[in-house]
Amino acid sequence: MMPKRVIDDLDLFNNGLKILPCKGIFHPTDDGGSIVVHDDPAITQRSFARLSKKDAEAYADFNAYMADATTVVRGMMFETPLDPSRRDLKGIKDLASFAWKHRKIGGKFFRLADLFTMSSYDFLKQWFENESIICALGYQSSIGTFASLKSPGSAYVLLHHVLAHDPDVGWGFAEGGMGAISQAIRNMGEKHGMTVKTNAPVARVIVNGGRATGVALENGEVYEARLVASNAHAKPLFEKLVGAEHLPAEMMKDLKRFRTFSTAFKLNIAVDRIPQFKGFDPAAAGMDYPDFTHLAPDVDYMERAYDDAKYGWYSQRPFLSPVVPTVHDKTLAPEGKHIVNIFGGHAPYELKNGIWANERENFTKTVMAVMDAFVPGFSSSIIDMQVLLPPDLEQIIGLPHGHIFHGEITPDQLFFKRPVPHYADYRSPIAGLYQCGSSSHPGGGVTGVPGTNAAREILRDWPKLKKLAA
Ligand SMILES: Cc1cc2nc3c(=O)[nH]c(=O)nc-3n(C[C@H](O)[C@H](O)[C@H](O)COP(=O)(O)OP(=O)(O)OC[C@H]3O[C@@H](n4cnc5c(N)ncnc54)[C@H](O)[C@@H]3O)c2cc1C
Repeated sequence: MMPKRVIDDLDLFNNGLKILPCKGIFHPTDDGGSIVVHDDPAITQRSFARLSKKDAEAYADFNAYMADATTVVRGMMFETPLDPSRRDLKGIKDLASFAWKHRKIGGKFFRLADLFTMSSYDFLKQWFENESIICALGYQSSIGTFASLKSPGSAYVLLHHVLAHDPDVGWGFAEGGMGAISQAIRNMGEKHGMTVKTNAPVARVIVNGGRATGVALENGEVYEARLVASNAHAKPLFEKLVGAEHLPAEMMKDLKRFRTFSTAFKLNIAVDRIPQFKGFDPAAAGMDYPDFTHLAPDVDYMERAYDDAKYGWYSQRPFLSPVVPTVHDKTLAPEGKHIVNIFGGHAPYELKNGIWANERENFTKTVMAVMDAFVPGFSSSIIDMQVLLPPDLEQIIGLPHGHIFHGEITPDQLFFKRPVPHYADYRSPIAGLYQCGSSSHPGGGVTGVPGTNAAREILRDWPKLKKLAA
């Protein structure tokens, strides 16, 4: 999801990052056929036409609309959210410059309002009639969110994922796995004097006279600093590492309200043979193997999966997105063996009338039943498997409720409200303490955008910070 601008700023392609390009999404349907959402729109339209000629024709108009909307919103991703409640000179200046900068939005405003408020189902219905096609295009609006295609506001989640596909980069797998992105950032930083310390949990941010002056590690080591920038989730950062005693009560209340309840899960699986997806036809799909797959034949399937979670249980037929990066990336597994990453929903952080310790095995069987239905014999090919439920993600990465995006990326939790009103500009009530992770605008995904924006604000404050430290 990383835009070209961030990749270029950090010079990642010259520091070891290699993207192995992908072409399309394979979306099997219940009738034994499939839909393909491909970089080449002609292939997509051909697959739509099998189900609806009208939808195939509407695709060009839909694409043009989304391209238009993404240009506007992509620009806004890189803007520091203003605080619309400010009534001082700075507040008025910020509002005026925002209005001037976006004066050309004009009529597009009404279209953007749709994307910010509608459900992705209602939004897509404006163009498409076939429920499998709507599912194929709206599927992403359920990724990582406790919502479904028919939930109000889910159209924005769709946009968030569409934004991710920067046409100047394309999309694909980072060779060596996602850690290769962190490694490339590290390689670049070290050329500029950066030092990285891992396995070094921070116990607290040191606050002196309302100013952050360093961090203390759990092992007792202390690092003094002119400023502290944190990409840890905003809740543990402010509630534990800083402490409510240093922070405004109103902010702490707002932070508590920031919704993080998650239902997303991930299975990382090693298999002894390449999964064979039923009904996949390389010639029709315009790719040798599915780059990315949606296992959810239509909208009703997605809604039923959501309904189970809505009432406190895991989906009895979860939607799944299996990917097999080893088809493209030969560095990850021995010859002939493969890795399958399955992302899916829904597995609520907490179950009603049950606990995960008793349900983990049943849950895994439920996922395997879906996999076996679409990839015959899949479960018998498994060598080993890691199951990551929301409580596991919370424990391993420190994500409250295991929310993969640090909190819902619905419009009520974005822009000037992320993570809380008045502190959405990457600063905090503590001078010299900055937020630079996904709890800030524009939210989750491996985008590097919150960090880019935070860096810009830090550089703005730098002359002041330097003076304070002197
Ligand atoms: C299972 C899963 C699948 C995902 N799939 C995708 C995907 O396909 N595409 C995509 O773009 N995004 C995906 N995401 C989301 C993406 O990974 C995140 O949005 C992104 O990593 C956020 O980056 P970040 O730097 O803001 O925060 P994080 O990656 O959450 O980093 C915060 C870091 O702070 C550390 N930390 C927390 N507390 C402390 C402490 N006290 N001391 C020291 N360190 C601390 C944590 O260990 C962590 O390393 C996925 C996430 C998950 C969990």
